[in-house]
Amino acid sequence: MDDRADILVVDDNPINLQVLSDILRREPFRVHAALSGEVALRAVAKRRPDLILLDVKMPEMSGFDVCRQLKSDEATRDIPVIFISAMNDIEDKVMAFGAGGIDYVTKPFQAEEVLVRVRTHLELNGIKRDLERRVAERTRALEESEARYRVLFEDSPLAVIVYDADTWKIVEVNGACTRMLGYPRQRWVGSSLGFMFERGQRDAMRALSRNLTEHSEEAVLTGHLRLSHADGCLVETEGIVQCVAYPGCRAHILMLQDITERRKIEEQLRLEAREHRQKLEFSLHYDALTGLPNRMLLTERIRQGVSQAKQTGCWMAVCYIDLDGFATLNEAHGQEISDHLLINTAECLRSCLRGGDTLARVGGDEFVLLVLGINSHMELTAFLENVSARLSEPFVSDTAVITLSASIGVTIFPQDSADADTLLRHADQSMMRAKQLGKGRHELFDAEGERRVRAQYESIELMRAALSRREFVLYYQPKVDLETRAITGVEALIRWSHPERGLLPPGAFLPAIEEDAFAVDLGDWVIGEALAQITRWHALGLELGISVNIAAQHLLQGDFIERLQALLAAHPEVPRGSLEIEVLESSRLDNIENVERVIVACRALGVGFSLDDFGTGYSSLTYLRALSADTLKIDQSFIRNMMEDKGDLAIVSGVIGLASAFDRRVVAEGVETLEHARLLLSLGCHQFQGYGIARPMPAEDVPGWVARWPDPSWATLAEGL
Ligand code: C2E
Ligand code: MG
Ligand code: MG
Repeated sequence: MDDRADILVVDDNPINLQVLSDILRREPFRVHAALSGEVALRAVAKRRPDLILLDVKMPEMSGFDVCRQLKSDEATRDIPVIFISAMNDIEDKVMAFGAGGIDYVTKPFQAEEVLVRVRTHLELNGIKRDLERRVAERTRALEESEARYRVLFEDSPLAVIVYDADTWKIVEVNGACTRMLGYPRQRWVGSSLGFMFERGQRDAMRALSRNLTEHSEEAVLTGHLRLSHADGCLVETEGIVQCVAYPGCRAHILMLQDITERRKIEEQLRLEAREHRQKLEFSLHYDALTGLPNRMLLTERIRQGVSQAKQTGCWMAVCYIDLDGFATLNEAHGQEISDHLLINTAECLRSCLRGGDTLARVGGDEFVLLVLGINSHMELTAFLENVSARLSEPFVSDTAVITLSASIGVTIFPQDSADADTLLRHADQSMMRAKQLGKGRHELFDAEGERRVRAQYESIELMRAALSRREFVLYYQPKVDLETRAITGVEALIRWSHPERGLLPPGAFLPAIEEDAFAVDLGDWVIGEALAQITRWHALGLELGISVNIAAQHLLQGDFIERLQALLAAHPEVPRGSLEIEVLESSRLDNIENVERVIVACRALGVGFSLDDFGTGYSSLTYLRALSADTLKIDQSFIRNMMEDKGDLAIVSGVIGLASAFDRRVVAEGVETLEHARLLLSLGCHQFQGYGIARPMPAEDVPGWVARWPDPSWATLAEGL
């Protein structure tokens, strides 16, 4: 683009015009000429020149007039005008400047002068224009920036309030603020900040503001503020207050976010959560179908019932109720009717409750009644009969008439002084018994029996421990044959050398293990120990056979013979025939053929057999015939009484007769006196065992006793034979 300056030369004298134009053209100017003021104005209107050289004296319109007109027009007022005139009076110059000229050149002029002045003014004007342009640009930029910040401020989603930190007078608020609290801007600006607070919150804000001032000018404090809306509602906000440098005052800026909605949602959520928790708690403790307490709550109630029963001394009954044949009903009538039936049952049972009692549903068709304050069995029975009667009332639905019965198991605290879970289990067990015994009835838990079983179980555990601690010992009681004066052997009799209770006889601990597998372990130990003892005596040159007592249950173990064999094999030095087994004739030898098989197998191993306490059982004769035992041991009770009791004497002589008829040896137990012995000898029995001969003794006493046998009185008796 052409950046040459446009210069308009105005003169009514064509010569002058030409001269000036030529001068100017020496410079890189574009020169336009006008011969009159009018022409000049038209030219300016068409194309704005950068400078005008204007003659003062012209016929129609003077240069001053032209200049005034130019200066009066906004569009042309800043075009620099240099007057050129022959008039050199100071008044003319004053007029020229008054009209708006910027310079004055008098004719005749030097070309250089004209050019210098033109250049200078063009330059000055350029600088001026540039300055103006820059000012204009700066102004525009400021306006834009201002507009941008306004947008940020006004359209901010946060309500913004600027207030004087000292007077609390509000100096500025934004649109969000007016919208949030519903007051127009006029209401805000100049008001004290306090007006927007809910009463009671002013202090909070004051404290916040004071903190801010006290702490640091840079601090930012946040907090919850509750404000009041123009319409009276409360607006919950979360605010930040901060010191700001604000023109004209020490100010704080408070920015608030409306959290009313959020608060509402939070509250709603909290309510929902609580409801959910309540529902959950209900389902934890109650049955959904019947609304009755469930097992968990019942257990808690039983615990409470127990402590109540302890305080009052009354009984608490736990009644476990199971509907008879419910599964079949369910199949026959469908779930819906079954559910109705259960609800109906629940209702019916509920009507039997007394104050403080609990009814719970603990399974599909299982309910538990917890009855407190019972004083007697009669009262409990009456209660249960009422329950059964109510339950057996027919249930009528649209499609069916159903009659129910229930099996009820009951346990009573404190007779059954167990914990809640155990009480429930006991009641359940009894309910099962009621079912087994024919349904539609109630059964009471046998707490005493349970205690016995538990005690027995515990004592068995103690005995196991005792066995491993080697607390059991065998005592030995000699058996003698008075005819030959020989010691026919010794009977091993177990003792428990109890660390606290001293030496216990078998009657004190064996009954507890009779039915238990431990009897087998203990029996094996006895056999092993007896074999070891035979070996020890053997080593001392004492040839003594030992008879051991073996429980029938032990004998009938499938692998009895193998184990016996193994024990014998472990003591190879034990002579055949040294070991004898005594089995109680009165024990339940149900499987008599098997016992006989064991006897036969034992004999093959060189182990003899005695029927112990013979005559005390119900089927002595059957046993005698079916079992090929070598020896019968007449029970000591007959021997003890045979002197006075003719019946016992008859039994003793009968057994002796049977033994000889069946070709068995016969040993009399419990021979305490020489009189016993004499009578027995007269009846044909000469093998004796008893206190009269020797009491059971520890193994180490046996050799000494053997050495002393027979003592004089027995020797005398034997001599008479
Ligand atoms: P049992 O086999 O009939 O043993 C005889 C019992 O009578 C022994 O009692 C013995 O001390 C006692 N006795 C012996 N002579 C007399 C007497 O003249 N007068 C009186 N009043 N009693 C006499 P103990 O040792 O108390 O044994 C009792 C029962 O325990 C035994 O009766 C036996 O059946 C059983 N028993 C003993 N040891 C064992 C064993 O190791 N295993 C098994 N399974 N049972 C055993
Ligand atoms: Mg015996
Ligand atoms: Mg006996």
